[in-house]
Amino acid sequence: MRLDYPSGLLARALLYLWDAVLAAWVVLRTIVRAISAALYNIPGRLTMRAGWYCPRCLKLHPTLLHKVYHRKRCSVALSAPIHAWEESAIYLVSAASPYAERELAAQASRFAQLETNYEDPTYYLGAEAAMPELQHRVYLLVNPQGIRGYAAYLYLPNSRGPGRRWSLRLVWVSHRERHRGLGARLLVESVKHLGLEPKDIAYAVPFSREGYRLVSRFVKPEELIMIS
Ligand SMILES: [Zn+2]
Repeated sequence: MRLDYPSGLLARALLYLWDAVLAAWVVLRTIVRAISAALYNIPGRLTMRAGWYCPRCLKLHPTLLHKVYHRKRCSVALSAPIHAWEESAIYLVSAASPYAERELAAQASRFAQLETNYEDPTYYLGAEAAMPELQHRVYLLVNPQGIRGYAAYLYLPNSRGPGRRWSLRLVWVSHRERHRGLGARLLVESVKHLGLEPKDIAYAVPFSREGYRLVSRFVKPEELIMIS
């Protein structure tokens, strides 16, 4: 079967116009994604949903107007930190945390996933209700600029014996704050808060280059427990 443009002049003109609108939309969308990727250092993710991220709370806005409207109302309010130094602090978000805090964790999770090209979402709203046995725990590193670090742990079946073991699914530090030791601080303090040491937990593979370098500072290669 062959599908041709209809022969009527008006119908053809309308179809060409519609094609032009679609083409313009694709071009515009690509430009917005390129700007978004350039601003937030998200390499190769032009196929992701286009949008505007709030640099403080990492909320995704579909348009720039939403982001501008949101800016005055944006707040990153978290309860008791587990560790604080200078102007920064690390907070725990778990199933027991208020909705607003879990929403912040979900926003950070999405942003961290995007910036690290990590495939699976490591935390989302309702994750703990869907799979309570995993005991989702998120640690957020916050400074006056906003949420700048994210570490997600799950209580997964032990790959080396019976029972379960805490596993680090993803650790992320904003590209604006790299090379300042924040990733190491986030890892060490969150593991300490779990009552463990870095060698006691499992690490999700694949590792990024930075991730492997970070973990190998604290765990010898022969002690490293990996989980997929
Ligand atoms: Zn915000």
